[in-house]
Amino acid sequence: MTFLEYAPAPESTAILNLRKSYGLFIDGAFVDGRGTPFQTISPATEVPIAEIANANGADVDAAVTAARRAYERTWSKLSGADRGKYLFRIARLVQERARELAVAESLDNGKPIKESRDVDIPLVAAWFFYYAGWADKLDYAGLGPSPRALGVAAQVIPWNFPLLMLAWKIAPALAAGNTVVLKPAETTPLTALIFAEILQQADLPPGVVNIITGAGDTGKALVNHGDVNKVAFTGSTAVGRAIAKSTAGTGKKLTLELGGKAANIVFDDAPIDQAIEGIVNGIFFNQGHVCCAGSRLLVQENVHDEVISRLKHRLSTLRVGDPLDKNTDVGAINSRQQLERIQELSEVGEQEGAERWSPACELPTTGFWFAPTIFTNVSTSHRIAREEIFGPVLSVLTFRTPAEAIAKANNTPYGLSAGIWSDKGSRILGVADKLRAGVVWANTFNQFDPASPFGGYKESGYGREGGRHGLAAYLEARGWNSPVPSEGARA
Ligand code: NAP
Ligand code: MG
Repeated sequence: MTFLEYAPAPESTAILNLRKSYGLFIDGAFVDGRGTPFQTISPATEVPIAEIANANGADVDAAVTAARRAYERTWSKLSGADRGKYLFRIARLVQERARELAVAESLDNGKPIKESRDVDIPLVAAWFFYYAGWADKLDYAGLGPSPRALGVAAQVIPWNFPLLMLAWKIAPALAAGNTVVLKPAETTPLTALIFAEILQQADLPPGVVNIITGAGDTGKALVNHGDVNKVAFTGSTAVGRAIAKSTAGTGKKLTLELGGKAANIVFDDAPIDQAIEGIVNGIFFNQGHVCCAGSRLLVQENVHDEVISRLKHRLSTLRVGDPLDKNTDVGAINSRQQLERIQELSEVGEQEGAERWSPACELPTTGFWFAPTIFTNVSTSHRIAREEIFGPVLSVLTFRTPAEAIAKANNTPYGLSAGIWSDKGSRILGVADKLRAGVVWANTFNQFDPASPFGGYKESGYGREGGRHGLAAYLEARGWNSPVPSEGARA
């Protein structure tokens, strides 16, 4: 088969208006950090983009102090309707600057521009619009009359969806009346800092949102600060566990959104062409740097060969390369460290006897790259079936009966998401009911909507983000016990 060659279609970076260096955003202004600054680079080229300030303990303290002052003097005094006006304004400014944000995100993170342009940034705006609408309706959130804001929220986010994770954290926190100190990931601080400029444009009162950059130590100092009322963390299970320990007994309210090892289950009556697209979207979207990625494909034995052969054909058409090229399907791996982890686990997969396959594809010589990869002949005991690889690597297992599919799908310490592909509605409902995963997609995958709660079972964390449930994480019920169904209800 021959393919028509694509001409390069690079998105221009001329729209960016980046500074050479960025300070910490504290109390409405950019200020110097006291730690040693660091560079953020483009993972596609390894070229530095900007110098980033590094917050030490004293900077963290200044940010929390600013957030506390803003909470007491301004934000908690505003009506919900007035808070909503700021959120609507932020949402509109995100839309106005959408192209700039998409280019910055792809540059700093390595994700394809078609994803940052069509998925990440539109969802960021949608999240602010959605929670803007809730700000004056908290009485109807199912938490009793006049639920109370918690105070200062400390929020720490990862590098895989930098601006979207910021939106998931900041939008509900502000709608509920809290003020915020947020730390973006060390490798992807850029869009959070442009967002800080948007907050200035929106005239958000100083101190309501503070953005402090730095590495793990900065995050640790933030979540352990004594004047924080709420901690929201998205990232690895190991760090989540450390945060759960250090916040235990402090009275800080905690939500954790951690890793996953989702099963994407394909039954023999599934619409195969759609399932192939869903499998590709499930694991190769955002280079597989997705906590809810469908990284374990469970395929019914009698359609295994057909599914794998069609999947290989489809993978041969994926374009890997320049994240800023509009034709790119799979971009760069976010960091050298993450690349090494993906390489290591893939080698383990081979050593354990699974069969490795990648399409022929030429990878750029600078930057961090990994070809889309599938492993067949994987068994449940293999490390590549149990551990989160967080890269473009799919592990394929088979099953014969729905009961076996359910048992295998649930055979994981995680429980963030799952997918089911079948023509039969009753089977979808029956299986979905038995999967211990926070989100179950049917005949689709990786669909996100601000109105829909998202979160995990077991080692995938606790608490829900999104929807009415997402507000509960930032509010204290008054007058009655929280009637919002808890995430552990079925666990
Ligand atoms: P991570 O180390 O947990 O980092 C997440 C965030 O926490 C980052 O902002 C990080 O800062 C910060 N951090 C690190 N140590 C901390 C500490 N002791 N206290 C408070 N904050 C701390 O995750 P990662 O290194 O980015 O990725 C490692 C693995 O985590 C991945 O391979 C993947 O399995 C999983 N992961 C899951 C998700 C998800 O969405 N659930 C997202 C990303 C990664 P620095 O960035 O500066 O280190
Ligand atoms: Mg970077």
